[in-house]
Amino acid sequence: MIMCETNNMIQIDWDLDSGNLVLDFANTAEFHASEQPDERLNSYADLVSWAAAAGIISRQVVKALLSSSKENPKRAKKALQDALELREIIYSIFSALADDNPPRQKDLAEFNKFLSRSLNHARVMDAEETYTWGWDNMEASLDSLVWPVARETANLLTSPDMKRVGECADDRGCGFLFIDTSRNHSRRWCSMESCGNRAKAQRHYQKASKKSASPKLDS
Ligand SMILES: [Zn+2]
Repeated sequence: MIMCETNNMIQIDWDLDSGNLVLDFANTAEFHASEQPDERLNSYADLVSWAAAAGIISRQVVKALLSSSKENPKRAKKALQDALELREIIYSIFSALADDNPPRQKDLAEFNKFLSRSLNHARVMDAEETYTWGWDNMEASLDSLVWPVARETANLLTSPDMKRVGECADDRGCGFLFIDTSRNHSRRWCSMESCGNRAKAQRHYQKASKKSASPKLDS
């Protein structure tokens, strides 16, 4: 992870390679399927940094939210907690789907609460002779970062890509979620370079130790 500080915001090199914004958000806890996930969103500023890198907020909103979070640290802390709660619901839903299981009803019900609160702020905006989906005054609400995430979650759940959500099969609990774009839905790892290679090396080691443990025929 690369970090450097510019414009009052910690710039973190976020992993945005899952193929979907919502899964990128779920992946902000590394080793998500393990007993002790590695939390990447440790402050409200981290959440802003992620949202900026993911392209869901403008520079103007970044500036406004960072300064407002400094003035209202308690509200910023609550907004971070709520965002993490939404993230865990998202992880739970898509991890189940990746495993070909239906998500828990409780998760869907909780998610729908986030969705309805978020869509309260949805607006249709002017966009040079046409119109586009937008949000009402994101600068003014510390919890505005989750609005687009909630809407994208609903979009993913109702799109054909829902059936392509996969989770890294790593046995340590990597838990990385991704959109599997392979033709026969055969992708198993977050990447071949990390968990894929480790599993390959492990299989190789197991094969080798099995061979050396078997009795020699000529003895
Ligand atoms: Zn992995």
